[in-house]
Amino acid sequence: MSPLIIYEKKFRLESKGWIAYRCPNCEKVQPFMCADNVRTEHLYYVLDVTEKKVGEVLTCGFCLMSLSLEKGTTIKVDPDWTPEDGLQVLADRTNPELGRIETDSGRTDAERRAVMRAVCAAASTLTTEAGPGMGLGALAGAGLGTLVGWGFHATGWSGYPQEDMFKPMVIAGAVGLALGALVGAWLWGRRRTRKLMRKVLREFMERHDLDPEKLWNAYCADSEGIQKIAPVLEAMRSERSSDSFDG
Ligand SMILES: [Zn+2]
Repeated sequence: MSPLIIYEKKFRLESKGWIAYRCPNCEKVQPFMCADNVRTEHLYYVLDVTEKKVGEVLTCGFCLMSLSLEKGTTIKVDPDWTPEDGLQVLADRTNPELGRIETDSGRTDAERRAVMRAVCAAASTLTTEAGPGMGLGALAGAGLGTLVGWGFHATGWSGYPQEDMFKPMVIAGAVGLALGALVGAWLWGRRRTRKLMRKVLREFMERHDLDPEKLWNAYCADSEGIQKIAPVLEAMRSERSSDSFDG
C-alpha cells in the first residue's frame, strides 16, 4: 500500500505596521494596518515547507475593509506608529502624496455607512444552515396540518368518506410539515443573521463611539446596499429610547 501524500497550501498574514491610505469604503484617508500575505506550501511525508510572500494586505483601521496589493507594489510602512501620533504624522511618513489631510476627529456619514456595509458583509459570510428552526417548524407544521386535515374532514369538506378520516389528516400533515420546515428554516436563518449583525455593529459602535441616531440618519441619507441592517438599527434605537425613558 502506498502512503497517502497530502499537499497543503495555506495563507498567513504577517503584520508589519501602518500606512496612511484613502479608504474607498470610508471615502477618506484612514490609517491602514499592513501585513504580508505569505503562502506556505507543505508536502506531508516529505516534510518540506516552502514560504513565499505573494503580496500585501491593507486593512482599514476604521471599517476593517481589506485591500490586496499585488507583489511588487512599493509602499512605505511605519512599524512604530500609534493612533496618538495622529494621522497627519502617518501620512507624512508613509504616503506624503496625500498632502494635508482632513484630521477632524468627527465622523462622517460616509464612515458610518462604511461600518454598516462591513456589518452587512459580515452577515453575508454566514453559511446557510437550517439549524433547529427547520425541525421545530416541521413539527409545528405537521401538527397544525394534521389538525386542519381533521377539521376539513369533520366538516365534510375533505371529500373523503366519513370512515376514511386518516387520509386527509396525513395529506394535510405532510403539506404542513414541508411548509413548516421551510418557514422554520427561514425564520431561524433570519434570526441568526440579525443576531450576528447586532453583535458586529455593537463592537464597531463601542470601538468608535458611534451613536445609533447618527447611524440611522446616515442610513436614511443613503441606504443603497445596506437595507439589511435597518431592522437591527431600529431595534437598537427603540431600546435606547426606552432606556432613556426609564432613567
Ligand atoms: Zn475604511
